[in-house]
Amino acid sequence: MTRKCTGKVYGDYRDVSGRVHPCNRSATIERAGKWYCWQHDPKRVKAEKERRLAKWKTKDDKRQTICARRAAEYRTCQGVSTETLEKLGPGGLKRLLDAMDERE
Ligand SMILES: [Zn+2]
Repeated sequence: MTRKCTGKVYGDYRDVSGRVHPCNRSATIERAGKWYCWQHDPKRVKAEKERRLAKWKTKDDKRQTICARRAAEYRTCQGVSTETLEKLGPGGLKRLLDAMDERE
């Protein structure tokens, strides 16, 4: 007798019922008395979830770094007209700061 997987499959967009179905695969792994296929193996599911969370965290950290940078730029540029910023041009602020350092 082949054991069936204990896992559940969520209906996709073609399944209008939106129901949850039992997995149809043969079970290959036993975990805590229940049988699962390779996909629904709780150990694999957990590892996959953690991998995804880590990926999102990396993405979120990058996004937050960019947001902090933009906020600092915004605060620094307050009170300075767009024309003045355009006159400074690329790297203009750095050149200005370097020139100030040399004067000291
Ligand atoms: Zn399964």
